[in-house]
Amino acid sequence: MTATVPALDGQEAARDVLGFIGASPSPFHACATAAARLEQAGFTGVDETGPWPADGRHYVVRAGSLVAWQAPPGLAPAAPFTIVGAHTDSPNLRVRPRPDLSRAGVRQLGVEVYGGVLLNSWLDRDLGLSGRVALRSASGIEARLVLADRPLLRVPQLAIHLDREITSDGLRLNPQVHLVPLWGLGATDEGGFRRFLAAELDVEPADVLGWEVMAHDVAPGTLVGPANELLSSPRLDNLCSCWAAITALVATASVSAGSVAAGSVRVVALFDHEEVGSHSTSGAGGPLLATVLERIALARGAERDDWHRSRAGSVCVSADGAHATHPNYAERHDPAHQIAFGGGPVVKHNASQRYATGALGAARFVAACERAGVPVQHYSHRNDLPCGSTIGPITAARLGIDTVDVGAPQLAMHSARELMGAADPGLLARALTEFYADHGH
Ligand code: ZN
Repeated sequence: MTATVPALDGQEAARDVLGFIGASPSPFHACATAAARLEQAGFTGVDETGPWPADGRHYVVRAGSLVAWQAPPGLAPAAPFTIVGAHTDSPNLRVRPRPDLSRAGVRQLGVEVYGGVLLNSWLDRDLGLSGRVALRSASGIEARLVLADRPLLRVPQLAIHLDREITSDGLRLNPQVHLVPLWGLGATDEGGFRRFLAAELDVEPADVLGWEVMAHDVAPGTLVGPANELLSSPRLDNLCSCWAAITALVATASVSAGSVAAGSVRVVALFDHEEVGSHSTSGAGGPLLATVLERIALARGAERDDWHRSRAGSVCVSADGAHATHPNYAERHDPAHQIAFGGGPVVKHNASQRYATGALGAARFVAACERAGVPVQHYSHRNDLPCGSTIGPITAARLGIDTVDVGAPQLAMHSARELMGAADPGLLARALTEFYADHGH
């Protein structure tokens, strides 16, 4: 049965995804942005240390990860899960524990490179800061989000006159030496960053106990081109998929009972730490999703065998950015698997299981696209280039749930500023909505 999804098409969806991404410069903010949208749709937050609700619309946030679900009342104990997964983190520069530096009369902030950063893309941009801070509070230690969405940092490129080799050798950047942002003038100001955070949060510097703070491009995302057919933004990988997953879950949750499949629990899993391998307490390689799913099953009275039956019948769509064919580098794609902007979601195939897609999962997703009236594309990596990976194979291996890797096409993946077709976020959200609506019949 088809869920009716209003206003997910075209530029309205593109502007909505830009709003979602703009409010989410860190994984912690991405979870807060997603949670706010879920709350608006009637989902309530659950504390992992408390008892579990038997059914209804709920979500859990663990650090930079979020799992949301809608469990219709009266489901069988062995009812399956329909899962859409994505990741909240993007490659960037993260502030070190002892960041206060100075050289040549310029104050700098020591940073660590997080994930597979296209280093050049962080040069000559105005950068803000965001993340979470551990504070001493009356009740012990509390985590607070911090967002300074204004120009604070800059990594200037070396002038061409001082880098004559750039024309013959290209730009060479050492991540330890050449990516240290500038943020003021003067000698080393020991404790300066801690005082900056304290002022941002209106607390005493001595109460700032630690931080996970990162840089972001403060220029907002925008539509590009005379006909606004392109979308330029930071963090399209993978907040575009997070947006589409939340949009689809909310769309199916708001459809009246009876017109959407009532036979499965619909789940969104947004994971942190994908860009660094997913092995963490909140990452896809950790216990978060399995724990949440098992507790959902147990809360409606499932026995141990019901839990195994439930997983055996479940499906997962892992949504992550796909590589559009770059017009200046078209030969980097397999000739029979060219990927176009506006061509619809991409099903990613890899025989070596860098993507988890199998023939049946792919067929199920393609069928959902057909019912949604959304075109679909197929990606297969060149044999002579190493293939990237994503959370799909990790969740598939951990949970044993049939998984299909998909994504909206984009260019400049892992740049501080990525590019996609303006129509593609809406097409992905429509496909995911139909995928949710179908499974469980
Ligand atoms: Zn990604």
